[in-house]
Amino acid sequence: MAKFLKRGIEQAEVAEADAKVRGIVENILEDVEKRGDAAVRELSEKFDKWSPASFRLTEQEIEDAMSRVSKQDLEDIKFAQEQVRKFAQKQKECLRDLEVETMPGVILGHKNIPMNSVGCYVPGGKYPMVASAHMSVATAKVAGVKRIVAAAPPHEGAPHPAIVAAMHLGGADEILVLGGVQAVAAMALGTESMAPVDMLVGPGNMFVAEAKRQLFGRVGIDLFAGPTETLVIADETVDGEICAIDLLGQAEHGPTSPAVLLTTSEKLANDTLKEVERQLQILPTRETARQSWQDYGEVIVCENDEEMLAEAERLAFEHVQVMTKDPDFFLNNLVNYGALFLGPRTNVAFGDKVIGTNHTLPTKRAARYTGGLWVGKFIKTHTYQRILTDEASALIGEYGSRLCMLEGFAGHAEQANVRVRRFGGRDIAP
Ligand code: NAD
Repeated sequence: MAKFLKRGIEQAEVAEADAKVRGIVENILEDVEKRGDAAVRELSEKFDKWSPASFRLTEQEIEDAMSRVSKQDLEDIKFAQEQVRKFAQKQKECLRDLEVETMPGVILGHKNIPMNSVGCYVPGGKYPMVASAHMSVATAKVAGVKRIVAAAPPHEGAPHPAIVAAMHLGGADEILVLGGVQAVAAMALGTESMAPVDMLVGPGNMFVAEAKRQLFGRVGIDLFAGPTETLVIADETVDGEICAIDLLGQAEHGPTSPAVLLTTSEKLANDTLKEVERQLQILPTRETARQSWQDYGEVIVCENDEEMLAEAERLAFEHVQVMTKDPDFFLNNLVNYGALFLGPRTNVAFGDKVIGTNHTLPTKRAARYTGGLWVGKFIKTHTYQRILTDEASALIGEYGSRLCMLEGFAGHAEQANVRVRRFGGRDIAP
């Protein structure tokens, strides 16, 4: 039986905090819907002390921001975007249009069509998350989205130059310096000064993630991508130092970011607990990491790989780092996860910033029903049909007519009957 060496706070406390966030977000969305630009400006002043002449950057402002980014930073951003594009392009090639003859004369097909417009949220409340611009903007561009709006909060009272550069290099058509719920609301609902988009994508804190959830239906959303979660699955093939680094490396995201170790080795569990305490003395972001580790950190000792698998399925975490003798066991059997990081050579930070897989990933167990953001999320698959022969039209019409009447749809049945009469030269049997 799985044994907890450290537990996080109770689920009831988490649910209570979630309920508070739901209420706050509902009020903000209502306000933006009613009062448009005026509400957006007031909310931006209230939460971010930010009220520029326009939230949308001009070409000159974009150029100015770009000129403030160092050559090395620009090169690094370009490298990361190249990796994201390469993988997204290959994934896009797997999305093929289809046309088949399912029976003589009956042609069914589907077409993959990119969305017209998307709003990409790039988080920046605590850290300026430059990489989120690669993940959403550059990927939307590969997909072929026509209008890409990108928004990020101000950083220390100004647009963050590297975020603006990443948005611009990624292919954004409009760049908004605007954060939080007001940003996603303005993009989704539109205001006097902003045309609405068709879908919202990108990660964010609990307010942003909840706003996207509440806006779903009015617009599309990619997925529920809230505060980061990380799960390390490890055995005696690795040591406490690397496990602790991989846990705290994600716990530093924010005070509500869960970091959990699953292991078959009680020694590794104890070593990791000691290492976490040692590293929490020296990590520059220790204040946040300590808070999240204290409230949301867990260490669970399991009997074997099968038990770790069952625990990992239950958690359905965003990031799953596997450092065991047989990482393929988890690749082959784990179903609920945002992204897998197999073996000690790779890690979540590579995925977050540079390797090329998308870092916008499901949280709060959304991995049970979705994977992360990818080029396919920007592309809609639409079906079509045609019938090439009179015989096929009459044959489908006869079955169709009876099936419509089975459900009491006389008008539907008449649509079928007229085809049977015209193309089959007969009446449908009563
Ligand atoms: P953020 O940009 O998501 O949020 C900042 C905004 O929150 C501010 O602009 C402000 O308007 C708003 N805000 C702050 N306090 C508020 C309040 N009390 N009420 C209403 N609005 C409020 O930046 P962040 O806060 O640094 O969070 C980024 C988050 O993104 C982190 O939790 C991180 O873990 C998460 N993340 C998730 C993924 C994923 O794929 N799931 C990837 C990267 C980052």
